[in-house]
Amino acid sequence: MNQKLNVAKQTYYFEKEHNDCLSCGNDITHPLCPNCISKAFMQWLEKFPEESKEIKLKLNIFLRHHNSVNGKSKSCVVCGKNKTHICPYCFTEHLYNLVKEAGLGCRAMTEFLFMFNFDFEHKGYSKELEVLGSY
Ligand SMILES: [Zn+2]
Ligand SMILES: [Zn+2]
Repeated sequence: MNQKLNVAKQTYYFEKEHNDCLSCGNDITHPLCPNCISKAFMQWLEKFPEESKEIKLKLNIFLRHHNSVNGKSKSCVVCGKNKTHICPYCFTEHLYNLVKEAGLGCRAMTEFLFMFNFDFEHKGYSKELEVLGSY
């Protein structure tokens, strides 16, 4: 194993600071790590003991992947220790899709959007809230 080469490679990787979301490429203006958002999300999921099993499974795969990213990026403003490689919007959009896939129903989705709405510019999933709002 070429130790020297590995160190050089690692240094390069760590020095490469990124402030953009690995998913959408926009600047992360609200660094809030997926782990912190997940905590609140998991609490909310307690209401759906049946459906939550599958959601939690898929969520854990996502979190493992996110936390294995080695690049340098902003630290989360809540926990201060986790790096944030994906913006809250992209992450909650992912959560939203999980909720949708699990078929929790319109009421649950509306509730989710009220609680975890990071779509500040209303370009994405919050548009669906207008449709769901009539329920
Ligand atoms: Zn993003
Ligand atoms: Zn955090």
